[in-house]
Amino acid sequence: MKYHRQELVIGKEAQQLLKKSKVTIVGLGALGTVVANLLARAGINLILIDRDIIEENNLQRQILYTEADLNKSKALTAKNKLKLINKEIKLEAKEFHLNHKNINQISSDLVIDCTDNLKTRFLINDYCKKNNLLWIFGSAIKEEGQVKVFLPNEECLNCFLTETNLDTCELVGVLNSITSIIGSLQADLAVRILTNKDFNKNLTYVNLKNNKFRSIKINKNDNCKACNGNYKHLDKEDSKLIKFCGSNKYQITGKPLPINKIKKINEKFNNITLFEDGRALIKANSEAEAQTIYSKHIGN
Ligand SMILES: [Zn+2]
Repeated sequence: MKYHRQELVIGKEAQQLLKKSKVTIVGLGALGTVVANLLARAGINLILIDRDIIEENNLQRQILYTEADLNKSKALTAKNKLKLINKEIKLEAKEFHLNHKNINQISSDLVIDCTDNLKTRFLINDYCKKNNLLWIFGSAIKEEGQVKVFLPNEECLNCFLTETNLDTCELVGVLNSITSIIGSLQADLAVRILTNKDFNKNLTYVNLKNNKFRSIKINKNDNCKACNGNYKHLDKEDSKLIKFCGSNKYQITGKPLPINKIKKINEKFNNITLFEDGRALIKANSEAEAQTIYSKHIGN
């Protein structure tokens, strides 16, 4: 009887489809925690991917986390919270930075982009195009946001966004009302797609400032590289050092260290979080400072 109220709307057969479905959520931040919360309660199996740890300024909008979770891994913490919400579903947490090498670990019916950066979105776009997967794009800043589903043979993200947008990384605020709405729209699309119901293929734009909802048709671009089979984001090497958008956090990727050494370093330094895959998140005021901290305490 767990899904009784939902079954009254979608039907018992549709609920059985959800039970067999698996969805990948990339990013367990503001959008990802809303999407994961709703889909877990709806009875859908989930793969949870996130590279980051929980910080105090996340709690305003990242609804699965509490003050007791600060500095813990988002992917693992989300998995543990969702297990308490629904023990019937299968949950996999992947604590990694999604890149061209590990993106083949997305083995699901649907991918939901809940990231905060275009680089990862272009990677997801290329991967899904190449592998005939559906994916749902979502973004929210300040009081506005947008959602769109991308189907394998139709227009894609690369058709209307260019890489010139890649460099923009500024710290802007966001309200928890808009991230909840956008995440809810993404979760709603996911349930409709997985149960073979009709869904809106247009881009939905929401602006809370003037209470506006708009449905915008995006056209296929004949010159789009991804649509013409050129998946360049799938061969791009990741840089060793990446600055996280809107924070003083740097990710440096090195060789994986033994687990006991990782534990020791994580306990000793509160500006360093080391992961088993060799990544280190370092809080620093500049790239140079991050590199100095890395070589001093972790290695070269
Ligand atoms: Zn395209």
